[in-house]
Amino acid sequence: MGLLKEFDQGQLTQTGQELHRLAADLYPICRSLTGDGIRRTLTLIKSRIPLQMFEVSTGTALFDWTVPKEWNIRDAYIAGADGKRVVDFQQCNLHVMNYSVPVHAAMPLGELRPHLFTIPEHPDWIPYRTSYYKEDWGFCLSHNQMLALEDGDYEVCIDSTLEDGHLIYGECYLGGRSLDEVLISCHACHPSLANDNLSGLTVATYLAQFLCGRDLRYSYRFLFIPGTIGAITWLARNRETAGRIRHGLVLTCVGDEGGFHYKKSRRGNAEIDRAVAHVLSYSGESAEILEFSPYGYDERQYCSPGFNLAVGCLMRSVWGTFPEYHTSADNLDFIRPLQLAGSLRVCAAVLDVLENNRRYRNLNPYCEPQLGRRNLYRSTGGETIGAEINARLWVLNLSDGEHCLLDIAERSGLPFSAISEAAELLCESGLLALVAEDDGGEQPRRPIAMKVPRTCHAERSEASAFPSPSKADSSSLRSSE
Ligand SMILES: [Zn+2]
Repeated sequence: MGLLKEFDQGQLTQTGQELHRLAADLYPICRSLTGDGIRRTLTLIKSRIPLQMFEVSTGTALFDWTVPKEWNIRDAYIAGADGKRVVDFQQCNLHVMNYSVPVHAAMPLGELRPHLFTIPEHPDWIPYRTSYYKEDWGFCLSHNQMLALEDGDYEVCIDSTLEDGHLIYGECYLGGRSLDEVLISCHACHPSLANDNLSGLTVATYLAQFLCGRDLRYSYRFLFIPGTIGAITWLARNRETAGRIRHGLVLTCVGDEGGFHYKKSRRGNAEIDRAVAHVLSYSGESAEILEFSPYGYDERQYCSPGFNLAVGCLMRSVWGTFPEYHTSADNLDFIRPLQLAGSLRVCAAVLDVLENNRRYRNLNPYCEPQLGRRNLYRSTGGETIGAEINARLWVLNLSDGEHCLLDIAERSGLPFSAISEAAELLCESGLLALVAEDDGGEQPRRPIAMKVPRTCHAERSEASAFPSPSKADSSSLRSSE
């Protein structure tokens, strides 16, 4: 049975609520490029899927970059002369500019003002600001909050640390029959921001959970990483084996009510690009396909010319185009259960295409085989030539060993699921045979290295092995389970 078909047997509404609940659990955590926020986030995800956590020391060189210092924060506030907090990190973690260096001082409003950031056009929203690579400090607040500040002295406190430590990322590897991989990557470095960050994290987690323990054609690698530097870290550590990634998706901004946007890989016409475009055209929602550009999320790194991996980016609203982007308005109300579930459904459908997109050969290529004699000229829909028979005829005609099922779906104007089901039926009837492919070699059979968490489908856990994701090959690296 196809992944999509199985997914559709579940309750979309309930799945959406579960996804939203996970987002709500992760929402209060103050994440950053490094530090305990991302550790806690990964620990929570690890309770649901077999996740391995990797830590890379500050100062480690990664291509043209270096692992930054580790940032942690306990508290931050601006207090008036009466000691009352007028801006309080405990109320909202966006109030502190992410990666602010520690500060504890008294200063007049005039001196404080250059360190305050607001959005005048949305006076109730708090902006999200960072200063990762320049040591600085600042507070973000609503414009109305700032207007209410009276002249006078303020106590300013940011109780943070910025010191040598580690960059942490999480990796969930699900071994399939082939060593060739499908990469699903999402960033986990934003604090309380829902669409930009948590939507991708939750959909990726549930997708891994959905695949866990299945007999899969491809191996799957899910990366939960800090944006940019995390992808660079992973690619630097896995330079030799990154070529195993045959198809990949960066998931971000997949929870809002906007229609889908898919940004193509740098290759532009990779199988993943075609698979996503095909699936979105049948998703029942508005969808737009965008050409590749060298800005955006971590597809920039995967698609850098040295790697040029077939990795695209699936979004609903495009980052930077919705006013809530990088503000406190990108909150749990901004992401919707049904949209999260709809995005997960699209992912399941895309993986269905990748898993089943094979080439076949018509074993009866001289004129049409007599379908009626084999009881194949009848569809469940009625007496007319329905979509099912149409799909069988297309598959028989184009299965010359050259065309894959996605080619046939595109050319026939029929959904991939119909073409795939027709191919399965025709194989069972002896009319079609699978063409063997060079698929990157078989997965070595290994004992199960990681226990499948209870949330995975335990009855299928026997079928899959979870080899350790990447080799920890340097003294600067330590793997924490
Ligand atoms: Zn962002």
